[in-house]
Order: sequence, then structure tokens, then C-alpha cells
Amino acid sequence: MSSYKSPLLVLVVNCGSSSVKYSLLPVGGGAPIASGAAECLGLPEARLSIKLNGVKIVEDLKGGAHEAALSAIFAHLQTEGFLRYIAAVGHRVVQGGERFSESVVVTPEVLADLEKLTPLAPLLHPANMLGIRLCMKSFPMAPQVVVFDTAFHQTLPPAAYTYAIPRALQREHGLRRYGFHGTSHRYVSGKAARMLGLDPDNHGLVIAHLGNGSSATAVLNGRSIDTTMGLTPLEGLVMGTRSGDIDFGAAAYIARVAGLDMAGVDDMLNKKSGLLGISELSSDCRTLENAADEGHEGALLALDVFVHRLARCIGGLATSLPRFDALVFTGGIGENSGRIRAATLRRLEVFGFTLDDEANREMVGGRGGRIDADFGPAALVVPTDEESVIARDAAALAHLSDLDVFAAQRRAAV
Ligand code: ADP
Repeated sequence: MSSYKSPLLVLVVNCGSSSVKYSLLPVGGGAPIASGAAECLGLPEARLSIKLNGVKIVEDLKGGAHEAALSAIFAHLQTEGFLRYIAAVGHRVVQGGERFSESVVVTPEVLADLEKLTPLAPLLHPANMLGIRLCMKSFPMAPQVVVFDTAFHQTLPPAAYTYAIPRALQREHGLRRYGFHGTSHRYVSGKAARMLGLDPDNHGLVIAHLGNGSSATAVLNGRSIDTTMGLTPLEGLVMGTRSGDIDFGAAAYIARVAGLDMAGVDDMLNKKSGLLGISELSSDCRTLENAADEGHEGALLALDVFVHRLARCIGGLATSLPRFDALVFTGGIGENSGRIRAATLRRLEVFGFTLDDEANREMVGGRGGRIDADFGPAALVVPTDEESVIARDAAALAHLSDLDVFAAQRRAAV
């Protein structure tokens, strides 16, 4: 057993439909002390991978699901001596509906309101809820804080969030655009504004969060005013396996010609489309870039469609802003793919964007900074850090002050 003696910690938990990711961060900020992911839950290959002091440990979960994964994670935290320093738990929750416009501490009332949101995210929400309940059981003394993917977008005006369908559906079923990746858009937009020295009360940004799931958001003075994802994370940009925007008439046609029911079409658009569907090779951008270099026709087309849709959406989002100070790239693709960034900026020349080729090449592997040639709107890369936002919200809402941290350090030193 290691004897951990240090500041208080926040455990950040992200319980997905077949995975549980976690990281352990110091209350006062700083890099994660431990992190890991349990994947393929409920399948024979279920496993937990843990990163600790630069060493990777893989544990067979023997087909276990979420409960087995969290038990194994807690057992590791106990062995390493971290458990008693956990002062708050922060949960990533996908859907906060119209009820939650910011992070909250879990109370019986909040739990009851959260339960009501399940119909809006039937796959992910039950897993999110299970994670909260299991952590409440294991850490009864630590406040549980929920941070929503949708919360940052609750400032969208009605014109941006209303679908042009009968309004009774919104009144009766909450059917409207919610937007996702809010924690990332919030962090990245704040950081970009500070990096560029922009007036907090007078600036406009478009954030392109490009990963396996991708979305772009128009942010005016720190508030989200338009975004590409909708009721679900299927709308908008082309993604790893998701189609993004598609004519619903085309979806109905697919159902008829392919003999699929609604669930079958939904599955195809979420899991078999996007970069994977077009390239017939992979959902992974890096793999496609390598294949494109070898002349793979499907990979070339998939990347072209990705950039076309991205540029078109960024142009559309810009029309929601009174001024366009900067385009910010983040997420695995946004942070690492100079090729996608360069192609996107070329497509956005109408806005006056320029590219500094050398800076663009250098911006990989967690480096952030400007990639424009210093005239026109700025273009920059800002690595996202959703875990630190969740940890910060959890610490703030749990009222963990510097004094608590100091007292814990003193206790540990004795
Ligand atoms: P998630 O949405 O699952 O969090 P990430 O943000 O980790 O996904 O992004 C994963 C994507 O980033 C993959 O498509 C991967 O190929 C891409 N990516 C990572 N590194 C590079 C790179 N050097 N060049 C191009 N694409 C990259």
C-alpha cells in the first residue's frame, strides 16, 4: 500500500453506457494524480485500465458491468491510500434538460429531477444515474456534484433552440435543441478569450470541438448562443461514426429501401455513418489521414466531407455573432490535425482567415497557441480539459476552500 499524503482530492467520474472513466485531481488544481477507464462493460472482454505514476495496469473485469468496474476502481483507490482524501465527487452527466443550467450538488430533489430526464437520453442517462448512486453509497460523506454537458448551452435564444415542428412537442416532451460538449466549450472559450486578451464583455468566438464526437459553438461574451448539436448528439458536424445533419426525408427513404425500423435507422446513423461510413475504412481521423496519403479514395472523400460540413457550420454559427474575433480548435482532431485545421481555414477565407503553416504544424500533442498569420480573425488551438472543470465545479460547490486543503496538508504532515 502506498501512503499518500497530500491535499484533498476530487474524484471525477464519467459513467457511459458501456464504460466508466475516472480521474483523481487535487482540489486546488493541477494534473490528475491517477486516472483510468473501464471499457466493454457487460461483455466478456470487460477490462479496467489504470494509469498510476506513469505505469499502466490492466485488470480483467470478468464480464462485469458498472458496479464491478466502480468496485475495482474504488479498490485501487483504497490500495493506493487515496480514498480517505476524496472530499467531493464530480459526475459528468450528459443531459440536464431545461431544469439544469449549471452544475449542482446532489440532493434527494435533484436526484428526483434527474430521473425525469431519462427519456431525453435513454442510453446514457441511466448509466450516469447509476454512477451517482454507486458513488453516493461508497462515499456517503463526500458531496456529489453533477456537471452537465448541456448546461453551458442553456443561454441559447429560442430562435436557436427551437425546431420548426409543432410546438406542442416541445411543451409536452421537451423536444428542442440542447447542445452538448458544454463543459469543453465553456473551458476552451474562457481560456481562448484570456489568451487573446479579449474584452470579456465584447468578444465573439466559434469553438470547434472535434473528436470522435464533434460539435461547434458560437460564444458571445462567454455565453453559448448557438451550437451544432441538438436534442441528441447526432445533429450537426460529421463525426467518427455519426452522420451529423441529414435530410429526414433521406432517413425515411433509407428505412423503406433497407427495410429498417426507426431503431435500425437510428443505429445506422449513430454507429455506422460519419467518417467510418463514407471511408468504408475507419472512424479514426489519424488512420484516414494516413490512408489518404496513400491515395485511398474513401479516406480522401471522408476528410473532404468532414471539412466541408465543418466550414459550412462555422460560417452559419458566425452569423449568430455580432463580431468574429477567433476560431478555436480543440478535441483530439482539433488539437492534433494540422491537415484538418489548414483545410478548414482555407475554406473560411471569406472571413479573412490566414494560416501560419509552421505554427500550425507545431500545434500537436497538447500544445496550444495561435496558428493564424496575424491578420484577419485569430485562429488558435486550445487543448480542452473537461476533468479540471468538473473538479473545479465540484470543489466550489462542496465549499472546499484553501483552508480545508491547508488543514489536510497539515494533518498529512504530522
Ligand atoms: P472523444 O470524442 O472520444 O473524446 P478524442 O477527442 O480523443 O475523442 O478524439 C479522437 C480523434 O482524434 C480520433 O479521430 C483520432 O484519430 C484523432 N486524432 C488524435 N491524434 C491525431 C493526430 N495526430 N492526427 C489526426 N487525428 C488525430
